[in-house]
Amino acid sequence: MVKRKIVETDSADDDDPKQPLSDNEDDEVMVSRKYQMDPNDLQVYYDRLFPFNEMFRWLSYGHDPDSENENVDRTFFHRREFTFITADEVWIRYQCFENKTQFKSCVRKVSPYRIEIGPLYNEPPSMKDAIGSSFRPVEKELVFDIDMTDYDEVRVCCQDKQICNECWPLMSCAIRVLHETLTKDFGFAHLLFVFSGRRGIHCWVGDRRARALKDDARFAIGQYLSIHMGTEHGNAKLNVRQPMHHSLVRASSICEPYFLRLLESQDWLSDEKGVDRVLGFLPDSCKETHSLLRDSWLGKNQDRSSSWKFGQLRKTAQTKSILRFAVREIMLFFVYPRLDINVTRKLNHLLKSPFVIHPGTGKVCVPIPIKEDGKWIVDKFDPLTQPKVEQLHRELNKNKDAKVRFDIQRTSLHKHVENFVKSFVEPLEEAERIRRRDLPAGL
Ligand SMILES: [Zn+2]
Repeated sequence: MVKRKIVETDSADDDDPKQPLSDNEDDEVMVSRKYQMDPNDLQVYYDRLFPFNEMFRWLSYGHDPDSENENVDRTFFHRREFTFITADEVWIRYQCFENKTQFKSCVRKVSPYRIEIGPLYNEPPSMKDAIGSSFRPVEKELVFDIDMTDYDEVRVCCQDKQICNECWPLMSCAIRVLHETLTKDFGFAHLLFVFSGRRGIHCWVGDRRARALKDDARFAIGQYLSIHMGTEHGNAKLNVRQPMHHSLVRASSICEPYFLRLLESQDWLSDEKGVDRVLGFLPDSCKETHSLLRDSWLGKNQDRSSSWKFGQLRKTAQTKSILRFAVREIMLFFVYPRLDINVTRKLNHLLKSPFVIHPGTGKVCVPIPIKEDGKWIVDKFDPLTQPKVEQLHRELNKNKDAKVRFDIQRTSLHKHVENFVKSFVEPLEEAERIRRRDLPAGL
């Protein structure tokens, strides 16, 4: 398939460019109107701001096509698939570039509304038709996609493509759980979390070991990280057993503060439906507790806060271990990450490139800072204030006289690219440098 039309109907895909998200007062009136990106803003962005050098440094993993070093694979970058999506929503698949200069000039010429990154193939994708059936994907980052629409059953403040600061902590929680699971249970070290530009996040794992994973291993990791199993007899069902796996015990301690904060803002125990959903996690052997709490929460204590009501359950759980398990399950149900496993499971699945502009909002898909000096800073990320393409164009004009070496230094995008290089690209390059240093010559 070379070209594909985006279907403009409801989709779990964050890439549907239908509706903008309100992110300031002026935009409040625009919510129902389709955001229109100015092609000139986009062209200026590719001409002067898109971090081609830094993206090339990442995606070449030290394999410089011009290198004389015998340990360098000079076809490495050339074998990577890029897909361009044009303004009229045509997908141009299997684009590839011999080097950074070609990558940059081609993107500037096409000025795609989106760029998707695919796998490396055994040969450059431009040779796909000539090679025929032996053309196959051989390597790609392990990737994850988390979309806020998959939380619609627990979000009260927003639905569908909307997000706000009250529900965004669901994404912060997902990032922390994913980060801890991938680093501690799988030993991965090179993680990049990226804002998808509207209502979700992507995670790229760049470790050499992760890039080499086959489809079945990717699917297994995706399953390991998935616990939501829909509903059974009207009750939410989780793939969680007693005793709880250590990974989920750790996840539930990450989830707890997020759950408690969201319990307050989303008021999950305010009505009968919410009460029954939570009490549905109590085991059959706790029928008495179930009916006592139900009577309390929907009777004389109906007007109390959800936090107060949940406090009653936790207090009861102090004396019953089986209830403590249920309390953990409830927290996990509401805030544990909900992955789109289809994005993770296939080596050849495309994923939107960092630093492209989301066509539905105009926002740059910037990396999300995770830690600083060993401390979590993921909660500081505000999706509503991230740079937009038209804003960056204005910043370029406003700071046109600033004495700087690169245009990007005139804009608020600069710190995002710096963070990307410092926290992701440089450590990857260092890991590759060490690996090559330890290799016998010619490998
Ligand atoms: Zn919200």
